[in-house]
Amino acid sequence: MRQTKLFTKTRREDPADEVAKNAKLLIRAGYIHKEMAGVYSFLPLGLRVLEKIKNIIREEVNAIGGQEIMLTALQDKELWEKTDRWDDIKVDNWFKTKLKNGSEVGLGITHEEPLTQIMKDHISSYRDLPVYAYQFQTKFRNELRAKAGIMRGREFLMKDLYSFSATEADHQNFYAQARSAYVKIFQRVGLGDETHITFASGGIFSKFSEEFQTESEAGEDTIYLDEQKKVAINKEVLSDEVVAELGLDRKSLVEKRSIEVGNIFHLGTKFSEALGLVYQDEAGKSMPVIMGCYGLGPSRLMGTIVEIYADDGGLVWPLAIAPFQIHLVALGNTPAVITGADNLYEDLTKQGVEVLYDDRGLSAGEKLADADLLGLPYRVIVSDKTIASGQFEVKNRRSGETSFAGATEIIALIK
Ligand code: ATP
Ligand code: MG
Repeated sequence: MRQTKLFTKTRREDPADEVAKNAKLLIRAGYIHKEMAGVYSFLPLGLRVLEKIKNIIREEVNAIGGQEIMLTALQDKELWEKTDRWDDIKVDNWFKTKLKNGSEVGLGITHEEPLTQIMKDHISSYRDLPVYAYQFQTKFRNELRAKAGIMRGREFLMKDLYSFSATEADHQNFYAQARSAYVKIFQRVGLGDETHITFASGGIFSKFSEEFQTESEAGEDTIYLDEQKKVAINKEVLSDEVVAELGLDRKSLVEKRSIEVGNIFHLGTKFSEALGLVYQDEAGKSMPVIMGCYGLGPSRLMGTIVEIYADDGGLVWPLAIAPFQIHLVALGNTPAVITGADNLYEDLTKQGVEVLYDDRGLSAGEKLADADLLGLPYRVIVSDKTIASGQFEVKNRRSGETSFAGATEIIALIK
């Protein structure tokens, strides 16, 4: 893409009303737009990052048998009354509204209820199981505090996967697969080293749920990490009894701030019993379906990556999720530079490399500062100097290392 065609502009100053680093930088770089606290629009560059994150998640969830769906945001009050999750005293973060006829509807905070209801039309026998269904969908939660930028939206994207199994053994087997898929997802987006499986409160059907917590001072959670064993306990459930039960030693647990990027749960038969999702087993006996749910926030993940990777110059994207792989920057406007940069842009694009081409008539200083702020993994400079040398200057945004390379080597770098 030519940068002269990109409608978003960068700004030098931090927005006055943001405290979170991710929001400040993403707004300054034109990736997102703030509508109001906790409510953000995604602009072209921001959407490209989000889509890349979604695709990584999609590949890993499809690989374990997930089938993609899309449920509705509008939710029927009666359904949620059946599981006792409509009452504002029980669930305090609903956005609710009324239809013209006066009946109440809510904007989905999560989707166990509607999906369980849907499955009643499709599951009746053990032969219909297991089923794994997931979606990427906007959730609405009236969060008390929304100061963490896109890490805590009042309207935000969630990937929610739900499993429906006949037996506890089948359920446990899938749960373990989902857990491994999550590990792969966090590795692929560049958070493998700092993301830890964390024992957290589990609701009614199991003692614990497992959270995926990414170490970061920007986090709102506190975990106690065993750095050797690479497991952690959420402060919410920390006690001597829990430490012992998990075979850990209190003395080797280190307190860390962290961001909950994912959460996987055993649901047992809580929703299937409340809503009547049953199947006939091989003996013809009616049994409640065993469920699990697996949540992950692509927008929170994007904010987390900003928090962890960004530096004083601006954003820094891992290659796998960068909006473009290369920032091609033409410095100077001599015919040689323009032709050289145009040709390289075409060569790279033809080879399937994703290039943002800064063809704007701005000063070198402005272009380089913008390149740092936008944070694409490799910056390639075309100038009279590089043309004379017959090679392009390539700078790794993260390490700051500079080298000189021809088009073929640049393509090899990306592939
Ligand atoms: P938290 O404790 O941080 O409020 P939660 O436990 O309520 O989150 P879940 O219901 O488990 O979150 O949601 C699944 C995933 O969705 C979370 O692991 C997180 O990645 C993401 N998520 C939850 N709330 C938000 C939010 N307000 N903004 C962005 N992402 C969110
Ligand atoms: Mg959670």
